[in-house]
Amino acid sequence: MVTEIFKVDKDSYDILKKAAALVRSGELVAIPTETVYGLGANAFDKNACLNIFKAKGRPGDNPLIVHIARPEDAEKIAYTNPLYYKLADKLMPGPLTIILPKKDVIPSEVTAGLDSVAIRCPVHPVASALIEMAGVPIAAPSANSSGKPSPTTANHVFDDMAGKIPLILDGGVCDVGVESTVIKITENEIILLRPGAVTLEMLKEFCENVSVAGAVKEELKAGEKPLSPGMKYKHYAPRADLYLIDDKYIDFVEFTKEKQKSENCAIMCYDEEIKLLENKNLLPVGNRDDIKNQTKQLFILLREADKMGVDTIYAHLPNDEGESLAIYNRMIRACAHRIIK
Ligand code: AMP
Ligand code: MG
Repeated sequence: MVTEIFKVDKDSYDILKKAAALVRSGELVAIPTETVYGLGANAFDKNACLNIFKAKGRPGDNPLIVHIARPEDAEKIAYTNPLYYKLADKLMPGPLTIILPKKDVIPSEVTAGLDSVAIRCPVHPVASALIEMAGVPIAAPSANSSGKPSPTTANHVFDDMAGKIPLILDGGVCDVGVESTVIKITENEIILLRPGAVTLEMLKEFCENVSVAGAVKEELKAGEKPLSPGMKYKHYAPRADLYLIDDKYIDFVEFTKEKQKSENCAIMCYDEEIKLLENKNLLPVGNRDDIKNQTKQLFILLREADKMGVDTIYAHLPNDEGESLAIYNRMIRACAHRIIK
């Protein structure tokens, strides 16, 4: 199959019309969103959704997120509650996914047999326009091959999906750079399953009872069943071995400078550290305090490290609070818990 890429914005009517027709006819289309690129299919079409799993090599027990154009469109596919609308009123459209009990119209293949469905209303104008034009909710996981870092540019998608899907909509670099915050809610409880740009602190404004699933900060214990099936898979991993350095205990520059002499390694350093290191295989993540930029760069740099052909990557162990929790969660899973203290 030939994979076409078109540059788009929300006014690219002809291309969006073509993409919407592909979705309606059961094909897969890669879509830019504010978080990462998604691999979309008609969420009502069981076979189209099964093809998402095939194209990604995604395990069949890892459910998909269903994307809608307006928060109230959740009514068609799930049983909502007042807390959903309280959250939606302030945080939707945006990088937040809410898990609710599902209605029968959503095929069980989409939810991997679970009786709940994950719902997101993207704010990206292209994603939003496409869902509206397709006239159906769009099931879409990240558009990477399973296990690889999520794609945040159309070229990343092309690297993983060329020949497997007919169309990639190129909306430029994704704003946020990591996947949406995923929460499971009841009328009076929020459980954070995956951290993202909507932070724990923001969620606490909406509900007194907010907890964090164990798998967010720690490795799952053997045999433990996560609340979110995706948590159990090795994920976001580059080919090289990633090590995280806890700079509370170790001088990052001193340590990595030595490694530069003896190893074929890349260093994910802060911009402030560039001039202190040897100018070889550096992957600057942005300023020390600029968490937004570090988040946006994360998957871009992990993919770049693989292209450099290094054996090891050294990076700072991120803080596990506030906006930085999303980076921490992705990094500890990408490093297979190789943390140097
Ligand atoms: P991705 O679409 O690749 O960003 O991954 C979606 C994430 O949401 C995965 O970690 C899934 O396991 C999780 N997810 C999707 N639907 C559900 C659900 N019904 N219950 C729990 N987790 C879900
Ligand atoms: Mg994914």
